[in-house]
Amino acid sequence: MKNDDKKRRKFLKQIAGVGVLGLAAAGTIWGGKVLLEREEPPLRPPGAMPEREFLALCIKCGQCLQVCPYDSILLEDIDGKAGVGTAYIDPQRRGCYLCKALPCILACPSGALDHDVADDVRKIHMGMAVIVNEKACLALYNKPVPEYERDLIYEHTKVLTPKERKEKKIYDLPNPSEKRQLQIELLKKVESYVGKQCTICADLCPYPEKELAIGMVAKNGGYLPEIREKCVGCGACVELCPTDVLSIIPRATYEEVYKRKKA
Ligand code: SF4
Ligand code: SF4
Ligand code: SF4
Repeated sequence: MKNDDKKRRKFLKQIAGVGVLGLAAAGTIWGGKVLLEREEPPLRPPGAMPEREFLALCIKCGQCLQVCPYDSILLEDIDGKAGVGTAYIDPQRRGCYLCKALPCILACPSGALDHDVADDVRKIHMGMAVIVNEKACLALYNKPVPEYERDLIYEHTKVLTPKERKEKKIYDLPNPSEKRQLQIELLKKVESYVGKQCTICADLCPYPEKELAIGMVAKNGGYLPEIREKCVGCGACVELCPTDVLSIIPRATYEEVYKRKKA
């Protein structure tokens, strides 16, 4: 385990004193607990067809991964259940940032990622964000964003050199690639929260009208994120949360997770 991960786990234990999947917000999550406990295939890239079709259509070419400027897409290795080379996203390592032009979908030659939804990120649905460890939320206790948040996102930013990661300092290149620029922009946004009140998940949600996907609401003298109807499950909030408060249920809908079924 990397040192930064160790620091985060230690910090989490100190402030939370509970295990993950505490589901303290169970009062607002109707179907979420059952869905969370289900053994689900991983989150797929934006525009992925329903899982069975996706698996049948994905030719494991890695084109989506090649064009992703955030390095969000990974390919399953021999331990993966769907077969070596199948595309997926692990939001703990890097969420998807909903690029306006959805290059991953356009690059997919097989139809595994649906070109019909590539004209608008609002048509994407990857899954649904849920609060899995409410007590770890820094905002709930008005605690500042710790220094290690910067270290963590440096580790996730693959375009940085090992030296930049180690020194936590970005060196300006004469002609940075668009990929480097985007990832550094994200890093700088995250850095600006260190030492301040945490609203990272709500502020950095990449959905175009983010307040329709997530917002901070007052609770017990502090604040807590509230997941809303337009959340597309991109996982950016999961990656950026310093204390593992959030998770994504792949392919779940808002209705399944948050709406109580009528008797
Ligand atoms: S929308 Fe952008 S960030 Fe998300 S997977 Fe596609 S290329 Fe990567
Ligand atoms: S709340 Fe925003 S950042 Fe989080 S998964 Fe939903 S759309 Fe993505
Ligand atoms: S990112 Fe959101 S959920 Fe995580 S600690 Fe900050 S306010 Fe809480």
